[in-house]
This record gives sequence, C-alpha cells and structure tokens, in this order.
Amino acid sequence: MWPYYPELLTTPVPRYTSYPTAAEFHDSVGEEQQRAGLQEVTAEEPLSLYIHIPYCREICWYCGCNTGAANRAQRLGNYLQRLSQEIDLVAEGLEGRGRVTRIAFGGGSPNTIAPEQFDELVGRLRSAFSVTSNAILSVEIDPRGFDAGFAAALARAGVSRASLGVQTFDPRVQAAIGRIQPPETIEHAVGLLRSSGVTSLNFDLMYGLPLQNEAALHGSLALSQQLGADRLAVFGYAHVPHLIPRQRRIDATALPGAPDRFQQAGQAHEWLTGQGWIPVGFDHFAGEHDPLAAAAREKRVRRNFQGFTDDPCDTLIGLGASAISRFAACLVQNERNSGRYGMKVGMAQLAGVRGIATPPREVMRSHFIEHLLCHGRAHLHYLPDRMRVRKVLQPFKERGLISWDHWELRLGPEALPYARSIAAALDPWRVASSVRFSSAV
Ligand code: SF4
Repeated sequence: MWPYYPELLTTPVPRYTSYPTAAEFHDSVGEEQQRAGLQEVTAEEPLSLYIHIPYCREICWYCGCNTGAANRAQRLGNYLQRLSQEIDLVAEGLEGRGRVTRIAFGGGSPNTIAPEQFDELVGRLRSAFSVTSNAILSVEIDPRGFDAGFAAALARAGVSRASLGVQTFDPRVQAAIGRIQPPETIEHAVGLLRSSGVTSLNFDLMYGLPLQNEAALHGSLALSQQLGADRLAVFGYAHVPHLIPRQRRIDATALPGAPDRFQQAGQAHEWLTGQGWIPVGFDHFAGEHDPLAAAAREKRVRRNFQGFTDDPCDTLIGLGASAISRFAACLVQNERNSGRYGMKVGMAQLAGVRGIATPPREVMRSHFIEHLLCHGRAHLHYLPDRMRVRKVLQPFKERGLISWDHWELRLGPEALPYARSIAAALDPWRVASSVRFSSAV
C-alpha cells in the first residue's frame, strides 16, 4: 500500500486537464482569439472535436458538470439548433483546413437527445468538417434511459468507444449520491453498446463517496471487471458544496475522512494492478488489449479535458455551451450558460467568452506538467524557475517519492497519489488559486 504523508496533501490542487487551468481563464480572451486560433489551423492538421450536450434526464447530487435537467423537449431542440449553427460558424472559420480524426460527445448525457437528433448532429459534423474515414468517435452514456434506439444511432454513426457513468454498484451509496441504477441497468447498457459496435468501453467509478467503504469499493471494481469493461477511470469524489450547490443534498457526515479516501485510492490501484490492469496516469486503468494500454506502453498517453487519452491532437475544438478549445496560442471556453450561448451563436458570433493566452513559455510548462502526469518524468532544464521547483519539491524528495537525474524530475513508484501535488510545484498560478480546488487525492 502507498505510504500516507498527509502533510504533503494539505494544499488543494487542480486536476490539470489543462495548464493553465480553467480557474485562470479571464474575459479578455474570447471570440477574437478563437477566430485567430481557427485561422492558424493548417490544411492537414489533425483535429479533435468535443461536442457538449449540457442536459441529463436526472441530475445526480455529486455532479460538478455543466448540465441541467432535460425536462422540456423544446429546450433541447433549441439547443441543438444553436449547436448546429455553431458547427457552421466554426467550419467557416476553418475554411476547409484541418482533418478531424476524433469526435467525442460528452456532457451532461449525450443520450438525452433522441436517436434521430444524434443522427442529425453526426451528419452535420461530417458535412461541415473534413472528417477522416478512420476518425474515432466516442460518447459518454448515462445507462439510465439508454435504449436500443440510441444504440442503433451509435451503430449508424460508427461510434466505437463509449464511457458509462457507473460510479458505484453499492445500493446504499447510490442512494446517498442520488443516482439509483441497479446492476441490471448497467449490464443491459453494456450489452447494447457491445452490439452497436463499441470495442472500447470505459466505466467511470468513484471513491470517497458517502457511506462508501472498502468492501463497497471492492464490489464495484470486481463487478466492473466481470461486466467486461475495457477501461476504468477511478475518480476521487470532491465535496465542494460552496462551489457546486447541488452537492448540498449529500450528507457530509457520511463522507470518508482523508485517510480513508487515501486508503480507498490505494486499494483500487492495488487490486486493479494485481488483476492485470495497466495503470494510466494517476486514475485511469486499461485492459491490456485496449488502445489506451498500447498508448501507455508506447509512451503516447496525453492529458486533455477528458482525462488521460491516446488522442494525439494538439488542437481541440470544443462545441456547445461551456466547451473548451485548445489552440496553439490560447485556450478558449464557450459561454457556459445555455441561454446566453444560444443568443451569441444566434447573432452569428463564435461562442468563446473567456480563456487565456498560451505563449510558448506556457506551452512548454504545460508539456512538462502533462509529461509528468502521463509518463512520470519531465525534463525541466529549460524551466526558468527550476531552482524554485526543486526547493518546493524537497519534502517529496526527502520521503523518496521523487528523484532528480540532473534536471529530469522522476516520480517514484509510490508517488502516484502525490502526482498532482508534485505537478502543482511547476504551476506558478497555484499559490494564488489553491483555494479554488478541491482536494489533493
Ligand atoms: S448523469 Fe452524469 S452528467 Fe448528468 S448529472 Fe449525473 S453525473 Fe452529472
């Protein structure tokens, strides 16, 4: 089991799905920079699209995503109409440049829309952008309400990867987080996804949930394996009701304490690796035949807004309310509020409203953080503040969690639960922004 040094985990740190993180975005970057980013895309550059559907049939109490209840068909229809307009606006900005090699649908729950609406959306994307014949399509699915009709739409679209929101199989824990879904619901969804042509299936799981103990976590891991998941993402639940009001419904007194959370993260890692799962980054696991395991073996894993991935694209284009795009010189986030997003797009404007410029020195820092989290090492020779970083990381070195080979920073075998905290030493924004993040493990 991993050694527990609580004194190294006291400062909340970001998850670093980007650097700089979204907490550093400001409103002096927006539509103009987004347009410039699109113009800088080169003719044959591989592009990754992310399409955000900010609606769910039911809202889970723990959820930190930008999503709302899909209780009115009209609302959903209007949103999709605006999304379609945004697709056209972005395609106009690209003027035929770029080759789309990945399309990911997330949310929210993309399966809140009707199968015909999904067909239409995919058709729109394929006609607006130059999508390569072997592009990989992936989708996030809420197993509740996932049916044969939507599975058939996935098959028509050629979706080969899916991620199921599972979180836990334990009925008591499910009740405590406001997400009831019996194992049969998951099993049914798995069967439908497999028959629709999904070859890489991820389960999102969580530890640190209310009433969750080691037995409950073990049960969820074992059942996920039994149901044939190809990948598992095991996230720590972050209880921040001051930032996410819907979490106020969760009984904070039922949450495991920090030492138990740490124990659960270690338990998941130990059990899964013992069963032959390949660890990827600090919270993903891949079956040995999954493409993510191959990427890990070949040191091709990247980190983007969706977590650890084998997507090699540098340029990511986010479509839909709150979606984030990554261009060579900036990160830009679309308007979060669906109503205001619709109004902006309705006026034929790109939807970017906040973001941050990423000059070469920040891109370099971003690569260091990404490399450290994905591959456990980073060459810091060209980092201007490397002396400061070395000093800040001394407590980690003294405990044997990291080592230095000249200016190469290396994570030790027991450093995984500390990886984000170690990466934060490379992040000059961290001191100013630390209070905005949740927890270190
Ligand atoms: S289904 Fe997923 S996105 Fe929707 S509220 Fe639940 S956790 Fe959030």
